[in-house]
Amino acid sequence: MSTPGDNRAPAALVTGSGRGIGLACAEALAKDGFSIALNCSGEGSLERTRNHAARIAETYGVETRAFAADVSDARAAGQLVDDTIAQLGAIDVLVNNAGITRDGLIARMSEEDFDAVVGINLKGTFNCCKAAAKPMMKQRRGRIINMSSIVGIAGNAGQANYAASKAGVIGLTKSLAKELARRNITVNAIAPGFIATDMTDALTDAQRDEISSRIGLGRLGEAADVAALAAFLASPAASYITGQVIAVDGGLAL
Ligand code: NAP
Repeated sequence: MSTPGDNRAPAALVTGSGRGIGLACAEALAKDGFSIALNCSGEGSLERTRNHAARIAETYGVETRAFAADVSDARAAGQLVDDTIAQLGAIDVLVNNAGITRDGLIARMSEEDFDAVVGINLKGTFNCCKAAAKPMMKQRRGRIINMSSIVGIAGNAGQANYAASKAGVIGLTKSLAKELARRNITVNAIAPGFIATDMTDALTDAQRDEISSRIGLGRLGEAADVAALAAFLASPAASYITGQVIAVDGGLAL
């Protein structure tokens, strides 16, 4: 994205960035010169996230901070955005990456499992978008990148809650793209396929082989594959792209 008018580096907040795809996004943006606010779900993962923040700062020579905040809580999400602005000077890029799964077939899926997944994946994304939209509108510049999933487009047996949340993220993305375009804020979604992280670690070898056989490139993706697209969407080269859902799935046949 275009450099801010003052002397500071552009600043990015990446939710759920203490590990997995979020951490890879934080690294890719730091490599491009962004100062980074990393985020994790609570105090239990804060030390690990702080350590990553320190390593990223040292490796790329950028400012970093680490904040524990449950994005499903509107107040906590608002505070997270406020803290990012207070510590890094602004919020130029928001990557809504925090997400969970609680898989199960509908007959056995509890109301709690539905609410938890929708609460973090969809409402958490809404909460952070809402909190960041105001300062971005005021500065008339911003990039919002929402992590959806290929499952949000195609559905997946055993993931009704997750698929619904990720489909919701697509609707949210397209609506906000329309609302915010006149303020020079782009809003796009990334739809990863199967990416090797803690989230997919639970797969058995047989499931992994079966999934790989459906992927054109014949293997699961890496977190860095997704992060490369997030960095592109945050870059000046992507300034005319908004309201899009872009898959990073190795040619997954659905
Ligand atoms: P992951 O390794 O399980 O990491 C999830 C991240 O989300 C962690 O950093 C976690 O923080 C954070 N998080 C969870 N609940 C949170 C909350 N309430 N508030 C703030 N942060 C929270 O997952 P991943 O595979 O990297 O996935 C990242 C995103 O990509 C998710 O939105 C996921 O749905 C999406 N995605 C992943 C795949 C895949 O194949 N891996 C495919 C499609 C889409 P803690 O470290 O504190 O737990």
